[in-house]
Amino acid sequence: MPIYQAPLRDYQFILSELLNIYQQTDLRGFDEIDADLTDAILQGVADFTTDIMLPLNASGDLEGCKLVDGKVITPKGFKQAYKQYVEDGCATLTCDPEYGGQGLPEVIGTFATEMKTATNMAFAMYPGLTHGAYSAIHVHGSDELKQKYLAKLVSGEWTGTMNLTESHAGTDLALLRTKAVPAGDDLYAISGEKIFISSGDHDLAENIIHLVLARLPDAPEGVKGISLFAVPKFLVNADGSLGEANTLSATGLEHKMGIHGNSTCVMHFDSAIGELVGAPHQGLKAMFTMMNQARLGVGIQGLGVSDIAYQNALVYAKERIQGRALSGVKQPEQAADSLLVHGDVRRMLLSQKSFNEGTRALMQPTSIMA
Ligand SMILES: Cc1cc2nc3c(=O)[nH]c(=O)nc-3n(C[C@H](O)[C@H](O)[C@H](O)COP(=O)(O)OP(=O)(O)OC[C@H]3O[C@@H](n4cnc5c(N)ncnc54)[C@H](O)[C@@H]3O)c2cc1C
Repeated sequence: MPIYQAPLRDYQFILSELLNIYQQTDLRGFDEIDADLTDAILQGVADFTTDIMLPLNASGDLEGCKLVDGKVITPKGFKQAYKQYVEDGCATLTCDPEYGGQGLPEVIGTFATEMKTATNMAFAMYPGLTHGAYSAIHVHGSDELKQKYLAKLVSGEWTGTMNLTESHAGTDLALLRTKAVPAGDDLYAISGEKIFISSGDHDLAENIIHLVLARLPDAPEGVKGISLFAVPKFLVNADGSLGEANTLSATGLEHKMGIHGNSTCVMHFDSAIGELVGAPHQGLKAMFTMMNQARLGVGIQGLGVSDIAYQNALVYAKERIQGRALSGVKQPEQAADSLLVHGDVRRMLLSQKSFNEGTRALMQPTSIMA
């Protein structure tokens, strides 16, 4: 199995030396943290990702998700791991305390995302999409919508998705055809098909809140006629309990290299009941709160995967013996020296290390602004 050492020393260097965050007491979320607290939180995430998520990465990818009778079953171990993830409060780190979050600065969330994506990107995408849905509703949703959904999304008891793409509408969302028809009581009936929906269906959580882009009947042409809707897998009763199943389902699973443990679904909406997020025809703007987070998240995914690749390349270069160093024998007790003695191997490893450390440092100011 690959090894992983969470770069905790690097994190503390960035927090205290580069960003000097312990002195930024005038910023929201920064006034109550110190090095002991961030150490404890990051160590907790490091333990969870290394002990629980990493062992499920290869097995999850080999087994993959399965679509059985319209329901997605995640690979062995994912359900138990996700339960522990929620119980440990991992989902709540940077979320609004009003809805049960810990209110920590976004930099802590960025480090947590790096550790999660390094050890198991497929698993990390379930809470990743949820956090994006939380943010879009938090920024654009009505008070009623926030009360209905945010606490459960913050805790991770419910998860979220992002439904933009249709088979004929990828980059160009002006082409999308999914319809939303008023159904009374501020509700809408959503009909259409979305593809490539990450975490579209699964067995990790009791409800899934789909954020769906669709057109109202009077919508102008193009991207100015797109609205955003919150469409739950199970309808939510006035007292917060779960009601009947909504008329939506996963009808297919895509296969994406290296992340078969994440369910990438074709989603079919058949007059499914949803509520507006934000104003009519302003849906793309609201969805971009989620999209922009997803873009930053994809950058962090690249760093996470690059760092675990570097760490394992380094272990291999130390263990594998081939040839002798040009400057003379370095390990006479062995039949050959380790790969690490060769200049070009060192150059490649140091390039990886410097790209990773530079990227990690560059990402943090971005996350302070997010
Ligand atoms: C891992 C993964 C997860 C995803 N998860 C989700 C999800 O959760 N929800 C969701 O809705 N979608 C999701 N998608 C779909 C993703 O958003 C689309 O793939 C994306 O919008 C691109 O659409 P497309 O694949 O149809 O490519 P196309 O739009 O067909 O584009 C093909 C190529 O042409 C380029 N191109 C297109 N237009 C222009 C232009 N005007 N100028 C220059 N170049 C252009 C594109 O950059 C691309 O390289 C996911 C995709 C992947 C790979």
